Amino acid sequence: MATDKISPGMQQYLDIKQDYPDAFLLFRMGDFYELFYDDAVKAAQILELTLTSRNKNSDNPIPMAGVPHHSVQQYIDVLIDLGYKVAIAEQLEDPKKAVGVVKRDVVQVITPGTAVDALNTGKDNNFLAAVDKIAQEYALSYLDLATGEFFVTLLSDFDAVLDEIASLKAREVVMGYAPSDAEMQILQTQLNVLVSRETITIDNPELISDNLSDLEKQVSGKLLNYIMSTQKRHLTHLQPVKHYEIKDFLLMDAASKKSLDLISNARTGKKHGSLYWLLDETRTAMGTRMLRTWIDRPLVSELAIKMRQAIIQCFLDHFFERSDLTETLKGVYDIERLASRVSFGKANPKDLLQLAQTLSNVPAIKAVLTDMASPVLASLISQLDEMPELLTLITQAISPDAPAVITEGNIIRSGFNETLDEYRVVMRDGTSWIAALEAKERENSGINNLKIDYNKKDGYYFHVTASNLSQVPAHFFRKATLKNSERYGTEELARLESQMLDARENSSNLEYDLFLEVRNQTEVFIARIQQLAKIIAEIDVLQSLAVVAENNHYIRPDVIKNTQEIHIKNGRHAVVEKVMGAQEYVPNSIDFDASTMIQLITGPNMSGKSTYMRELALTVVMAQMGSYIPADQVELPIFDAIFTRIGAADDLISGQSTFMVEMMEANHAIRRATKHSLILFDELGRGTATYDGIALAQAIVEYIHENVGAKTLFATHYHELVTLENTLDHLKNVHVATLEKDGEVTFLHKIEPGAADKSYGIHVAKIAGLPSALLNRARDVLAGLESDSVAVVSAPSQTSGQLDLFNAPESEASRAIVTAIDELDVMNLTPLEALNQLFELKKML
Ligand code: ADP
Repeated sequence: MATDKISPGMQQYLDIKQDYPDAFLLFRMGDFYELFYDDAVKAAQILELTLTSRNKNSDNPIPMAGVPHHSVQQYIDVLIDLGYKVAIAEQLEDPKKAVGVVKRDVVQVITPGTAVDALNTGKDNNFLAAVDKIAQEYALSYLDLATGEFFVTLLSDFDAVLDEIASLKAREVVMGYAPSDAEMQILQTQLNVLVSRETITIDNPELISDNLSDLEKQVSGKLLNYIMSTQKRHLTHLQPVKHYEIKDFLLMDAASKKSLDLISNARTGKKHGSLYWLLDETRTAMGTRMLRTWIDRPLVSELAIKMRQAIIQCFLDHFFERSDLTETLKGVYDIERLASRVSFGKANPKDLLQLAQTLSNVPAIKAVLTDMASPVLASLISQLDEMPELLTLITQAISPDAPAVITEGNIIRSGFNETLDEYRVVMRDGTSWIAALEAKERENSGINNLKIDYNKKDGYYFHVTASNLSQVPAHFFRKATLKNSERYGTEELARLESQMLDARENSSNLEYDLFLEVRNQTEVFIARIQQLAKIIAEIDVLQSLAVVAENNHYIRPDVIKNTQEIHIKNGRHAVVEKVMGAQEYVPNSIDFDASTMIQLITGPNMSGKSTYMRELALTVVMAQMGSYIPADQVELPIFDAIFTRIGAADDLISGQSTFMVEMMEANHAIRRATKHSLILFDELGRGTATYDGIALAQAIVEYIHENVGAKTLFATHYHELVTLENTLDHLKNVHVATLEKDGEVTFLHKIEPGAADKSYGIHVAKIAGLPSALLNRARDVLAGLESDSVAVVSAPSQTSGQLDLFNAPESEASRAIVTAIDELDVMNLTPLEALNQLFELKKML
């Protein structure tokens, strides 16, 4: 591109664009934001804009596209939603007064992690994360620009970093170090986040405490610098960085959270059908956000869990007061976000009214909690800060029907400011003064149809028709002459007019100034507003858990720090029960005595193994959140982590890579789990050949038994594994009961002690509608195979470290048959081909 031919305006564009190569630059020109060059070509395509060009007739026309300034937000939202950055360059001076090119510069860079003005931001946090590393230690910091929350923690490896980023649902990650290609790949493709870089860290003792470790200070400083350099505006609402430790919460990796449908339903990706959906009876946006955090981070402190339970119990014991509380919470606005709008200088009069309305509800919330007369509420009550000074200020200053704009007046209440009141008197009384003057001059002059009119050009004037011109008094002066009339002014009329116009202009200027003053005074309260928001959110989540407990007949679990036992009497999977209805659901008890470590669950496919396992995991998550539980009685230890390997149905088809994921997740679990963890393995090993699968499944069970000690539920349809109970002291068989009558099998979804006696695979095939001739053949084959069955290798003796897995005694013939079956591509066989294959197998036998 030949820069010498470029106009000064375009040169300015290029200079600015140079600093923002990774963002769409929206360049303000009059009423439009323009994009140029590649930005224009790309944006035109994404936003469906018309692509035109500047310097059309030159050799090098510049591609150009624009959006009108008043609808720019919707275009920004689309770009941000797609994971792009947008830099906004404004005109910094009045174009009419500019000498040469109008001064322009970038006033804000909006990125997926910093978008707070988006039209559709609602009840979810939008966290921006930053990662840094010194030697082998990682630190992660994150903040939500819309609420001002700011956190930091140290992590031991990159996997832990990924888990945190995934559970935060961050859309953008600021890397403080240059990530490796592999790390970059995972961040971009697996987590689908926008990766930004920040190398400069800043000190800010007010926000970043000196007590943090160097790495934590460094990562939060970089995050802060990134925020400062993109936002370029007031950020008084950022809260001091809070240090946390992942071990202070029940650890769950992203895959486990997903497979347990905690935040969204894994199949649909929607909130409906998740634990979050089930538990959400919150009444405020702040409560909804906090509930999500509680589900994401269940507690591990017995005391804290019991505190939450005690409050829920108190809410359950006081039905009427709780109903009042729920009602009162409906009048609470999202004051956490309002506080940030105040800080950004974006709060309008309606926002302040919403803040006042919320504050005016605080005494009622306090009163209803006080009525419950329970010591467990004392701390919450004492932290409900009513901020009477702020409430008085806003109520006295802002008119109850003030508009959302701040430039058109009607904002400030009368009585708040004397000068403003005087202007308003002039504006209101001006009309009657004019009427009085009109009457006086009509009488004095004797012109019966003399009247005062107004237009933009001449202002106020006396209208005199041609026939009355002789009667015009001497103190009238002519303002304009029309065909059949003349327009006159008088000194008095001119004085009134200027008083009225001045009053109108002065009053809206004064209202604007007064509003800014009120907003600035509100800014002083930001930290207190944020604190109040937290307390109200907590009350809201607790009342929500109480409502859910009551509606669904949940009970209070007994959570005991050092117990080794699990007892759940008639437990239910909370979400499945809600979806299918309590009548349909078959409750299941889960019991582990102190010496039981592993339950091996056998039973046919579709009989309820996985639902049983999830019942336990969900019960643990709910109990450690402080929630009540769907069961008759519950006794649980406090777990430090939950690891799961639960496949989705569609995993079955995708083959090798699925098996790899399966093994990686198993590896992750057995390496990290402690004896206080919970492991759920569902059909582990089914992604590979049968022998491999059985061998690995057995080895993994034995490994957990010998080396990990975590409470484990291991569901399998490898019937061969049930003999492990003979060799592993801490393993118990359980199975799903089936009812067999006249050759028909019904799955009862009931878990019972002992091993299942059959696999019922052929029964499932029958339900699926396979031809009966084929099923008969299969039964024959099965009988043949069973007579030459493969025994599971017994577990190694305690002293031998080596596992001897592949020496099962088997005949050559059975090996050939098994290989032939193994190689069958069942998914792609027609019924006829299947029959032929069976025939071949039979022949081999
Ligand atoms: P598996 O893991 O043995 O293949 P699932 O746990 O996925 O079986 O359960 C299969 C289906 O059986 C579920 O979709 C559900 O409809 C039903 N089911 C499972 N457990 C129960 C139960 N306790 N009560 C009623 N229905 C159940």
